[in-house]
Amino acid sequence: MIVDSYRGRDTWIEIDVKAIASNVKAVKTLHHPDVHIMAVVKADGYGHGAVTVARTAIEAGAEWVGVALLEEAVELREAGIEAPILVLGPINPQDASVAQRYRISITVFQSGWLTEAGSYLEPEPPLHVHLKCDTGMGRIGLTDGQTLLDMIKILKADKRFEMTGIFTHLATADEWESDYLSRQLTAFQSYVQLAKETAGHIPYVHYSNSAASLRYPGNDYNMIRFGISMYGLVPAIETATDIPVSLKPAMSLHSRLTHVKKVQPKTSISYGATYIASEEEWIGTVPIGYGDGWLRANATNGGEVLVEGERCPMIGRICMDQMMIRLPAEVPIGTKVTLIGKQKREEISIEEVSERLSTITYEIPCTLNGRIPRMYTNLDS
Ligand SMILES: *Cc1c(COP(=O)(O)O)cnc(C)c1O
Repeated sequence: MIVDSYRGRDTWIEIDVKAIASNVKAVKTLHHPDVHIMAVVKADGYGHGAVTVARTAIEAGAEWVGVALLEEAVELREAGIEAPILVLGPINPQDASVAQRYRISITVFQSGWLTEAGSYLEPEPPLHVHLKCDTGMGRIGLTDGQTLLDMIKILKADKRFEMTGIFTHLATADEWESDYLSRQLTAFQSYVQLAKETAGHIPYVHYSNSAASLRYPGNDYNMIRFGISMYGLVPAIETATDIPVSLKPAMSLHSRLTHVKKVQPKTSISYGATYIASEEEWIGTVPIGYGDGWLRANATNGGEVLVEGERCPMIGRICMDQMMIRLPAEVPIGTKVTLIGKQKREEISIEEVSERLSTITYEIPCTLNGRIPRMYTNLDS
């Protein structure tokens, strides 16, 4: 902060933590009480703030936290989160002792990795590993039974390792077509059986992401990895009708008009002078741009924002830090502009923004960058 009285730019993201808690509780109702929930908070909690989301989810009944990178896990530990954490992505063998020190579970899928990590490990505490099987995602994971057996052999022989889980990741759980998913499941079942025959009891067996945990509950061994829908977003718009609980979106995005003016017909607006007023028009300036991750395509693809509960088009090119909108009438400078979220009876959802940008819901909160401050609402209830 520059000085205590510094007010800063009026552009902010609100995160409704009650919505996150409600989504965790909603998915819990679909599952057997013995099924553990892993709150997936990689990429700074899908842009919502990893630490606050993790705390909220744990409070609401999640027992595990999932991240993609080791440094994301360390950040949570340093913030005082004591729940078990699994790094879902690969880590370098050189960093195995960091995972040990912070008691972070990691994902392994190559026997060479285990051998190499062995030369970096401290005698204790044991490094908890989850074996990753690639059953059709084609990203990371072992792809044959022999590798599974080789790895279990190394893990059993070295007391510095403890095998605590086995998992896979689904490629098509958010689609109507389900044959591919069935084939992944069958392949996973064989790996799990082979692993149990060789290693005995395995505490955590998991394969469901949000889509599978909502669309195929009851099918999910003993843990689900709940990401996108914890934030109140559907994994895919096409299969949204197949989701049996009501999800509450946690993120909204707001700003305030910094300038309002009446322009004459034929006045052009923004870079390239591509927008030309066809009549006398009221134009507002909003302090947000592609430097915040509010991409130019939001305007070129005909997007709208809310002002006083009415939809207003973004016009001309979005700049790095500012953009313009057409207002139905004069409104005061400082009037609130909602880019994502509700005003009166209107709502612009992340689903709408993702369709506007021809992408998936996931990309929207992840793209809105750290230049926009996150404000948490409903924190103390
Ligand atoms: C990101 C991720 C998840 C969460 O997926 P959602 O679709 O957001 O629920 C689960 N498992 C793995 C391995 C992941 O990388």
